[in-house]
Amino acid sequence: MAVYNLGSINIDHVYRVPHLPAPGETLSALDYAQGLGGKGANQSVAAARAGAMCHHIGAIGPNSDWVLAEMQAYGIDLRYVSVLPVATGHAIINVDPQAENNIVIFPGANRALTADMATAALAGAGPADSLLLQNETSAQAEAAAIAAARGMRVVYSAAPFDIGAVRAVLPHVSLLVMNEVEAEQLRAAQGALPQIDCIITKGAQGAEWISAVSEPLFMPAFKVMPVDTTGAGDTFIGTLAAALDLGLPREAAMRRASATSALQVTRLGAAQAIPTAAEVEAFLSTH
Ligand code: ATP
Repeated sequence: MAVYNLGSINIDHVYRVPHLPAPGETLSALDYAQGLGGKGANQSVAAARAGAMCHHIGAIGPNSDWVLAEMQAYGIDLRYVSVLPVATGHAIINVDPQAENNIVIFPGANRALTADMATAALAGAGPADSLLLQNETSAQAEAAAIAAARGMRVVYSAAPFDIGAVRAVLPHVSLLVMNEVEAEQLRAAQGALPQIDCIITKGAQGAEWISAVSEPLFMPAFKVMPVDTTGAGDTFIGTLAAALDLGLPREAAMRRASATSALQVTRLGAAQAIPTAAEVEAFLSTH
């Protein structure tokens, strides 16, 4: 039982600025911080912290060893991460005093992943394993097709939303996870949601699992005082994929994912805010 996560690995460059830069303006930042980011990396951290054997399938560029060291420290297996002669994916994030931001993302090595790399990574996987994927890399459709042919559960986070990518991956998906905005975008593009298992996350309200074959399941969010909701969705999805992979029934898996992301939003940051399994157990025992 393992979670194979075909996912982005980014370096987040976060600049605290006095105001968001205007066109043509040169601005001095007040502060700078660098950290591990990317939906894929966040989801792998969540899956590993939830106790799954997590194999990350991804790519970085040269001179980014600290990124791998950080992922490894979270317990993520990196044997399927390639080092390519392309810049590591990165995000330039400007944050103003009102916490408003603007973000430029360079996908870099994330979009240089090939179908051959995904094929090689999935060569030993089988029906007891899961493939998790998002829209921040290349080779999603090929990887999803291989995983489905191998009988794996394919969990797809349709984010960032891109209808072309979604249509290519959907035929191979077992569980589609979206937030409310993505679900609305898919409904607008297709007229309806697909007749497969779907989870729609609804922020502080909770999350709903809709299935063509069983009753819908609504999991209310735990009541917490959020300080930073960045990465809540990634935390939910990575935890859920791990919980299902470890054999939890869907209600227990949803409850665990909900508790993990509730705790995560009470802390600053994305990956570094994801709680350990022991912290989640302690939270669940009191809620
Ligand atoms: P993001 O883009 O910020 O990563 P998202 O839009 O993909 O998030 P959300 O629907 O906002 O995802 O959140 C995912 C899950 O996290 C929710 O279904 C809920 O369980 C939990 N969550 C999010 N915000 C809160 C909150 N304020 N309080 C408690 N739980 C929350």
